[in-house]
Amino acid sequence: MTICILWLRRDLRLDDNPALVAAIRSHKRVIPLYIHEKGLSSSFGHDGLASRWWLHHSLVSLSEELSRKGSRLLIRSGEALEVIKNLIQETSAETVYWNRLYTPREIERDRSIKAWLEGQHIKVSSHNSALLKEPWVHRKPDGAPYRVFTPFWKSLEQSLSPDLPDACPQALPEVPDNLLGESPVSLGLLPKISWDEGFYSIWKPGEEGAWRNLDQFTNQAMSGYGHERDIPSLSSTSRLSPHLRFGEISIRRVFARIREVTEEGNVPGALTFAKELGWREFANHLLFHYPHTVEEPLDPRYTHFPWRTDFESDLVHWQRGMTGFPIIDAGMRELWATGWMHNRVRMIVASFLTKNLLIPWQRGAEWFWDTLVDADLAANTLGWQWSSGCGADAAPYFRIFNPILQGEKFDAEGRYVRQWVPEISRLPATWIHRPFERSHAELDAFGVRLGEHYPLPIVDLANSRKRALDAYEVIRNRQTA
Ligand code: FAD
Repeated sequence: MTICILWLRRDLRLDDNPALVAAIRSHKRVIPLYIHEKGLSSSFGHDGLASRWWLHHSLVSLSEELSRKGSRLLIRSGEALEVIKNLIQETSAETVYWNRLYTPREIERDRSIKAWLEGQHIKVSSHNSALLKEPWVHRKPDGAPYRVFTPFWKSLEQSLSPDLPDACPQALPEVPDNLLGESPVSLGLLPKISWDEGFYSIWKPGEEGAWRNLDQFTNQAMSGYGHERDIPSLSSTSRLSPHLRFGEISIRRVFARIREVTEEGNVPGALTFAKELGWREFANHLLFHYPHTVEEPLDPRYTHFPWRTDFESDLVHWQRGMTGFPIIDAGMRELWATGWMHNRVRMIVASFLTKNLLIPWQRGAEWFWDTLVDADLAANTLGWQWSSGCGADAAPYFRIFNPILQGEKFDAEGRYVRQWVPEISRLPATWIHRPFERSHAELDAFGVRLGEHYPLPIVDLANSRKRALDAYEVIRNRQTA
């Protein structure tokens, strides 16, 4: 009887899972394995706290799903090669299947495991389950990697073939009882403090939750996505990011849905949605071709950028949503309470941190890494480098978002601010993004005292903007790569 190991990593699903499909096609026994290796996909030396919460629940969900199909998820902790070696010894498995990953450290790890396995005459069968096109396949006509999104997406979109996703298998082979594993609880992934309370009512980690969000989005929000996706008070985006991050739904499945919707009629938002998913592809493309960008700017001029060094107190105000700028504070509090923040607000808070506060983008990326349930090395690196002006196709450094004007444009009625900053929720819409421009008496009438109920601004916008532009002048004339 042929036996194989199916090593599941960030592909925690049974539907449209190429490694699983290939494994069951060729083997009578398939052992689904999850290895708990600490901190591998992170540049910050540890898994983010919010992603650990997600991973716990995702593993519980996958274990249940596998059991329903007659199989079992074997969870083991330790260094991946050691775990695999031991399992091969116990099972005499002949092949190891996995879906490929693209972060620098994971690529290095997988290469060395593959070399070891092949040296032992054990086959490795690896697959693409995460991307429309893998980074080495999709390149510019001259063979170089892309650095600008629009041409990247245009050529990717044109070359997409309508690949049909594979259905979830009806039943799976049993896993022998003598193979022992750990439980998700024993991995200690859940936080020690009850900060995750708010997550449960919003998220349902696992395949079922991913399908729920995809269905809700296509039925209710996709048609308006093009013009509503920038309004943070609306549920107008898919909230698929953590599900995609953990591979609980496949990108082919999401694109198959986009195709279904567009074939049925003209849904304007569907094409914009496809393009946003293109940013995810672009992020992985950049991380693969420029792996140093996890820690260093893609634009080398920024290596010498004169960031502030005395910023710890401002960083803490930003993290806690206590900057005195309502849209910033609303975003940072949404992040803390739900493990997610709206994309428009992510851009505003990132611009504020790196430009108005002149704090290195890596410190913001680190905080997001810890607090986002969708924390993803490729997307987070791209998001921070783009926002701070030092990445591929980045917003120019001198374009500094004004948090008051951004708030008034994208949260005109102040609904988003009212939800997350209740201490100023009684203020009228015309004041809510600029309470500090009102007198004590005016604010008092609405029960607000700045510096007491809600902080005074921690920086002056005009002065901090000038300081940022002066800092930019220092590096402006240096050569780009
Ligand atoms: P939707 O608007 O429904 O978009 C659909 C999907 O497209 C998303 O789920 C995501 O997979 C992808 N996507 C959309 N925009 C982007 C983008 N700009 N870059 C890459 N992929 C994108 N996204 C993450 O998944 N993980 C991160 O760690 C992350 N960090 C970010 C940090 C900063 C500073 C910024 C500005 C953006 C970051 N993003 C990150 C991108 C984006 O904010 C989120 O993907 C999006 O808000 C997720 O919500 P959604 O699923 O409802 O998105």
